[in-house]
Amino acid sequence: MTNLDTPVQFIKGVGEKRAGAFKKLGIETLFDLISHFPRAYEDRRRFVTIGQIQPGEQALIRAVVANSPRLRAIRRGLDLVELDAVDDTGRLHITFFNQPYVRGTLRLGGEYVFYGKADGTQGRPALTNPIFERADAAGRLTGRIVPIYRLTAGLSQTVLINAVSQGLSACDEVFPDYLPGGVRLAAQLSVARFAYHNIHFPQDEAALSSARKRLIFEELFVLSAALGRMRSRRSQETGIPLTPPDLARFEEALPFPLTNAQRRAVKEVTSDLCGGGAPMSRLIQGDVGSGKTVVAAAAAWTAFSSGYQSAMMAPTEILAVQHYKTLTGLLAPLGMRVGLLTGSLPAKEKRALYTSLETGYCHLVVGTHALLSGPVAFQNPALFITDEQHRFGVEQRAALTEKGQSPHVLVMSATPIPRTLALILYGDLDISLIDELPPGRQSVDTFAVGASMRARIMAFTRKLVKEGRQAYFICPMVEEGADSASQLKAVRAYADELQTRVFPELRVGFVHGKMKVREKQAAMAAFEAGETDILVSTTVIEVGVDVPNAALMVVENAERFGLSQLHQLRGRVGRGGYKSYCVLFSESADAADRLKILCDTGDGFAIAREDLRLRGPGDFFGARQHGLPELKIADLSDDITLLREAQAAAEDYLKQDPALQKPEAQALRQRINTLFRFVTD
Ligand code: ADP
Ligand code: MG
Repeated sequence: MTNLDTPVQFIKGVGEKRAGAFKKLGIETLFDLISHFPRAYEDRRRFVTIGQIQPGEQALIRAVVANSPRLRAIRRGLDLVELDAVDDTGRLHITFFNQPYVRGTLRLGGEYVFYGKADGTQGRPALTNPIFERADAAGRLTGRIVPIYRLTAGLSQTVLINAVSQGLSACDEVFPDYLPGGVRLAAQLSVARFAYHNIHFPQDEAALSSARKRLIFEELFVLSAALGRMRSRRSQETGIPLTPPDLARFEEALPFPLTNAQRRAVKEVTSDLCGGGAPMSRLIQGDVGSGKTVVAAAAAWTAFSSGYQSAMMAPTEILAVQHYKTLTGLLAPLGMRVGLLTGSLPAKEKRALYTSLETGYCHLVVGTHALLSGPVAFQNPALFITDEQHRFGVEQRAALTEKGQSPHVLVMSATPIPRTLALILYGDLDISLIDELPPGRQSVDTFAVGASMRARIMAFTRKLVKEGRQAYFICPMVEEGADSASQLKAVRAYADELQTRVFPELRVGFVHGKMKVREKQAAMAAFEAGETDILVSTTVIEVGVDVPNAALMVVENAERFGLSQLHQLRGRVGRGGYKSYCVLFSESADAADRLKILCDTGDGFAIAREDLRLRGPGDFFGARQHGLPELKIADLSDDITLLREAQAAAEDYLKQDPALQKPEAQALRQRINTLFRFVTD
C-alpha cells in the first residue's frame, strides 16, 4: 500500500535508476516528492497563430507538420532534425538539436502543439528545440500553467512533471494535512488535496495563490506550534531562584566601567535570574565587539554568589579557549574557579574536569560541544550560556539545557538578524539589545580593491607592522567541497608565499580549521602574544577572536563571502583603540556594489538587512546554522503577514490543547516530532 513514506522509486516514472538523482534533490519519499514545490511557473495557455509570432517571445502554436522531418549530421556529436509546420496563417521552421528521436515521433500530417522561444525573422518564424505534444492529447506540458522545478543532473523538467503528477495520483486521498480542521476554517484556507494539486498544476492564478497561501501558512503554523510547545514547557517550570549578587564588587573588579547598554543587559539578566518566576530564556544580541562576554560573566557571578554552577558553550575550540582565559581573568579574582572542556583535552584532564563538575568544585565551565557529551554532569547547575548562538541549532541549545533541571538559559549572538527571522529563531527567548560599543572604538576604514592595489596594500601592511600592529590575512577560498588536505595546502601555500616573497622580514603564522587543535592553539597563542605579525587564516577566526593589537584585516576573494560574514571578519580588528583597516580584495565587478555596502557602513543590522535582501533567507541562514528544519515554501523575508497570522493561530490553538492531545491534532503532533525530535518527549 502506498503511503507518504513510500520510497520514491516505487512511484511510476521514477524507478530505481532515477532514484539516485531524486535523492540529490532531497526527494526520498512520496511526501518529499509532492513537497518538491515548483521554483517558478510558466503560463503556456495563450495560443498564437504562426502569423502572430514575435521573434524573441515565447510562442504557443497549434500547427500541422508539413514535410517529413529530416535528420542531418552536422559534425561528430551534433545532429539536427528539421521540419516545417503550418497553420492557416503561415509556415514555421522547426529545428531540434541532438534529439534524433523526434524524427520518429513527429509525423507528416499530424497536428501538434509547439511551445518555445521564437527566433527567425518576422515572416519567416522559427522555433528551436520546442516542447511539443500531440494536439489531441495536449494539456500536460502545454495549454496550462506549467511548473518549473529545481533540477539536478539526470533529471529533466518533463521527468519531474511526470513523477510529481504520478505522485499526486498515488496520494489520492491521503494528502498530508497538519492543520487541525478548525484552524484551517478560521484562516479560510484550502484543503490539503486542493493545495498540493494546485501548487504543482494550478488551474489558474487564483487557485495557485490559494494553494500557496495554505502551504505557507501550514509550514509556519507547524514551526510556531513547535516553538510554542517548547516555550510553554519552559514557562510552566520554575527557575532556580537566585539571590541578587553584589554587582558593585563585580564592577570594581572589571578593568573598565560597563557601558550603559551593558549595564541595562546585566540588569535584565539578574532580574530574570533572581525574579523567582520561570527560568530565564534570554538572548543578548549585540554587534561584534559590543562586549557581550562581560554580561555573561555577570550572569555567572550571580549564579556563583548563590552557590550554583554555570556553563558556557562556544562554537569553536579557539573561541572556547579565549573565553576561558577572559572569564578566568574576570572571575578568578572574585574567587570563582573556571574550567575548560574541549574535545581535544587529554583524557586524564577531561576526567579530572568531569569530577570537579560533579563535585561542584568547578564553578564555571567553558567549553565546546564536548559539554553535551555523556559523562558531563553537574552538581548544582543553575545557568547555561551559549555564545554565537546562530552557530548552534535550537536542538543543541535544548541538549545543553537537559543537563540541568529547569536551568536559566542565556544565549549571545552577534549576528544581527532581521525581525522576521528573529521571531522564528528566537520566538522562545526574551531579547536584550546591546546597541552601543565601548568608548574609544573607532570605525574600521574599509576598502574594496582589485589586484592593481596589491603592492600598495602590502606596503601599507609593512608600515602598520613597523608601528607595532598586527594583521590578519584571510586566505583565498579553495573550491567548495575541497577536502581538508587541499584546504590546508592552500593556507600553507598562501602563508609561504607571503612569508618568502612578500614579507621576508616579518613573522607570518597560519591557522586553519582542520589543523590539530594543539597546533591551532599554538598559532593563536603566538599571535596573541605578538610573536607573529601576520596571521594567515581561513574563516576559523570569524567568530569572537579578540586580539586588540590587530589593526588590519585583509580578505582575499571577498566576493565569495556573505556581507554579514565579512562584517564579522572585520569585527576582529579595531578592538584596541588603534586606528584599524579592512581591505577586501576582489576582482569581481559583480561584487563591487555589494562590497561597497561594507565600505559605507559599520552598522551590522543594516548590513544584515542588505545581505538578506540580496541573498534571500535560505543562504543567509542555512538550516544547519539555526537548527530549524528547512522551509520548503515560506519565505521569511516576504511572508511576514502570514507568519504573524500563523503564529497567532498556533498560540490560540495551544491554549485549547497545550499538549496536542485532541484527535485532530495528532497529525500536527507527529509532524512536530519528526521535525523537532527534541520538542516533545
Ligand atoms: P563581543 O560582544 O563581540 O563578544 P567582547 O565581549 O569580546 O565582544 O568584547 C570586545 C572587547 O571589548 C574586549 O576586548 C573587551 O575586553 C572590551 N570591552 C568590553 N566591554 C567594555 C567596556 N565597557 N569598556 C571598554 N572595553 C570593553
Ligand atoms: Mg563574543
